[in-house]
Amino acid sequence: MATANTPEFNQVLYKPLAEIDPEVKNIIDKETWRQFTGLELIASENLTSQAAMEANGSILTNKYSEGLPGARYYGGNEYIDELEVLCRKRALQAFNLDPAKWGVNVQPYSGSTANFAALTALIQPQDRLMGLGLPDGGHLTHGYYTAKKKMTASSIYFQSFPYGISPDSNLIDYDGLASQAKIFKPKLIICGASAYPRDWDYARLKQIAEKEGAYLMADIAHTSGLIAAGELNNAFDYCDVVTTTTHKTLRGPRAGLIFFRTDLENAKDLEKRVNEAVFPACQGGPHNNTIAAIATALLQVSQPSWRAYAKQVIANAKALGEALVAKGYKLQTNGTDNHLVLWDLRPIGLTGSKVEKVCDLMGITINKNAVSGDSSAQVPGGIRLGTSALTSRNMKEDDIRVVAEFLHRAVQLSLLLQKEAGTKLLKDFVRVATTPEEGKEGYSKVKELRDEVRAFASKWPLPGVDVSTLKQPEGLVAH
Ligand SMILES: *Cc1c(COP(=O)(O)O)cnc(C)c1O
Repeated sequence: MATANTPEFNQVLYKPLAEIDPEVKNIIDKETWRQFTGLELIASENLTSQAAMEANGSILTNKYSEGLPGARYYGGNEYIDELEVLCRKRALQAFNLDPAKWGVNVQPYSGSTANFAALTALIQPQDRLMGLGLPDGGHLTHGYYTAKKKMTASSIYFQSFPYGISPDSNLIDYDGLASQAKIFKPKLIICGASAYPRDWDYARLKQIAEKEGAYLMADIAHTSGLIAAGELNNAFDYCDVVTTTTHKTLRGPRAGLIFFRTDLENAKDLEKRVNEAVFPACQGGPHNNTIAAIATALLQVSQPSWRAYAKQVIANAKALGEALVAKGYKLQTNGTDNHLVLWDLRPIGLTGSKVEKVCDLMGITINKNAVSGDSSAQVPGGIRLGTSALTSRNMKEDDIRVVAEFLHRAVQLSLLLQKEAGTKLLKDFVRVATTPEEGKEGYSKVKELRDEVRAFASKWPLPGVDVSTLKQPEGLVAH
């Protein structure tokens, strides 16, 4: 609290956000309301815990601690050291790793920076790497370029070459990867994806990497929570380095982790390279408030209840997939092994953008996504749906079937809107969805469905928020 002696220039330090900055407070309130009244189906998102948010919003944000525990550039780090050592221990425990065989760096700010640091540690500038192509479900940070341009640091500073999924099965084309790797001779093969509904054959990947003398790195950003629970194949059994985000299925704050083997030849060297790649090569001072939040999220992952959560996420994704297939829709690979499904909208003549837009209007958050064989990356033919966040709001299979019904109606409504728009243009589509017009019923159907979605979504709790006292804030965007 400010005292009588607090100078005027410091009085702001003691005032709550609502008082000092109602504008930002109102934006947070609107976003809280959106999360409460909507259905979050973006596969990369989740709802972190009250504890993680508390740690993330803590006073630890004040401290500089460049370096590693016991070897910092600044003083006053005795508790930060304790925190980082605890976080590392919990990271190994969460994934059931032997501390004699694995180490971890918990400082990466996010998944992308974790990946770039891992590449910096493992290979030299302009060395060759292979990752799953972006249109096949891979991530930008695994190397992405177009005919005109190298798009991401992983293709600007390294020579990247994509492998893909097989056009028939839509599963990873391991044979294709093996023969491409034989020619391309990568120093590093990256596995892991952002939009791949099936599990990975890490043993096969290891075999391919070994044959070419390449490192094998898994980026388990999307699936780490499910791998920690033992519900998917274990990337750690075969990979040299494993990176992950902490905010997707792992349900922590926004950050990244890099795990590295410590039992290989030159292990000390690898450990040193990873740590030095994170700092000073790619980052500055660690975000200690985030590291505290990661630690508390990882504690939750180590509890027996975590497995039940992960199982429910997968059961929900399967239920969602089955409900859509039962309605006659097409899913890439016809279903899922993990937390996400890829819905191919091309057979019914819709684009991902249109369905994303309609869903947005009714508070169902999803994203357009390329599906196998899309001719244009600009007009993705599908959408990606994930169940991590809805499972964090307590939903089970029966509830997910209600969500599937909403999605079915949203898609049918998109067909009607497309017809009423009169053209295939997105702007005409959006116009008929958002403005009443004589003789057209799409607009009022959007409103009707939106009200139903809101009523359903508002029945569920939202972690970190007391929804019983939540009031609708001012200034919401009217759809
Ligand atoms: C989300 C994701 C990332 C990037 O994480 P950010 O925290 O957004 O930087 C990296 N790799 C994969 C596979 C991802 O899905």
